[in-house]
Amino acid sequence: MLERLQEAKDFAITNGLLKYNTRYELTHAPFSLVPYQVSRKTLDRMIALTPLFNELMLKVGRDGDFLTEHLEGVARTDDFVRDLLALYVKSETVQPCQLMISRNDYMLSGKGDALSELRPKQVEFNTISNSFVFLSRQTYRLHRYLYDGHPHESELAFNDPLEEVVDAMAQAISHYDYPQSCLLMVVQSREQNVFDQRAIEYRLLEKHSIPTLRLSLEEVAENGVLKEGHLTIRNRVAALTYFRAAYTPEDFVDPEAWKGRRLIEASSSIKIPSIGLQLAGAKKIQQVLGRPEILRRFATEEEVVRIADTFVGLHTLDEKVGDASADRIACRFPGDYVLKPQREGGGNNLYDSEMVERLQSLDGDQRQAYILMERIQSPAHASLLVVEGVAADVSCLSEVGRYGVCFADGERILLNRDMGYLVRTKSADQNEGGVCAGYACLNSLRVVP
Ligand code: ADP
Ligand code: MG
Repeated sequence: MLERLQEAKDFAITNGLLKYNTRYELTHAPFSLVPYQVSRKTLDRMIALTPLFNELMLKVGRDGDFLTEHLEGVARTDDFVRDLLALYVKSETVQPCQLMISRNDYMLSGKGDALSELRPKQVEFNTISNSFVFLSRQTYRLHRYLYDGHPHESELAFNDPLEEVVDAMAQAISHYDYPQSCLLMVVQSREQNVFDQRAIEYRLLEKHSIPTLRLSLEEVAENGVLKEGHLTIRNRVAALTYFRAAYTPEDFVDPEAWKGRRLIEASSSIKIPSIGLQLAGAKKIQQVLGRPEILRRFATEEEVVRIADTFVGLHTLDEKVGDASADRIACRFPGDYVLKPQREGGGNNLYDSEMVERLQSLDGDQRQAYILMERIQSPAHASLLVVEGVAADVSCLSEVGRYGVCFADGERILLNRDMGYLVRTKSADQNEGGVCAGYACLNSLRVVP
């Protein structure tokens, strides 16, 4: 495929497979020229898990007592989680509807390296600001183009999460039932991944005649008002608010941002996600759900078995693991663990010697804001990665995210399905996996029998 590098770059640029780099210069999004291979069995297993996880997380996100109980310890030293929790407690009943656009990220792991033996192991379930629904579709299309007439062509797995996202948004807005309402997309000011967001805006207008207001939290504070509970901005009602920001404390440096966030929360706008669901996506909650007795509160025994099969070891720092506490074991075998604080967006987790140093420096209360997760051991594979126009032949690891959508009015689920995938392929010596952070390349799936 290396001989087709220029054609691949032309396709990427023509079809909006683009982003801004860290210097805010326009470039193609990093991509792989070689699709990631999975077995039919593994792929079907992941697809079937999506509605199951959606329903689980919906229940968790609606359980205020549960979230408070398990996040209280974190909130003692993590101001961001504390502030989110405070907002949740105040506003849980304003709008019973919510739209979830989820992504369950897995790495494939198994005893042997045979594809059919690999099982999906969960990295994390993302409930807020799930990006790449457009760019992952364009990566699939790039591969369809490059592999046209090639023996692998028919094995590429179809992927179009953009269309499903836009249709679900239209359904939620129609459910809200207010004339000429719009989507509010809450964004960061210097967003690198703009085109992935713009594609949603353009398709929503083209297909469903629904306009989008694209604003930062500060702009919402400045321009928004509540009229009979409706979030009204520039004479339009935001029936639906889609967060592509507000998942990190960096979005709240200006106190006006909290004003904007609180205004949204106080309004009847349907949120993607609700604040409860955002909190349910915390890594602390993932760790707690790793305990079967807790999982049983939210799922049937049969579901518990299927869900728990995707979990690797998740621990508090003080938890006994074998003969010692989890943090001692992690210091003894640093290559086998990842230390995670309650943050989203990449670059926050600690590995190897940094993990050991942090573990040794945390005091009593701070320890509660972290979890230890076993490292998922996934077999490396060869790939050709293209970053800023340059291709490299690299030994890689890949991560597969399944997008899900779930629309619920209180406990009534009106829509719940899998809607496609994201593949991120990175050099095997990289720990982190973010695309815009510069660690990973977009990819597609090739399904082998
Ligand atoms: P973030 O919220 O920053 O996306 P993640 O928990 O998804 O945090 O971790 C970021 C990246 O680190 C993942 O995309 C994956 O590449 C890698 N990673 C995280 N947890 C593990 C794990 N348990 N085993 C192997 N790699 C992991
Ligand atoms: Mg992640």
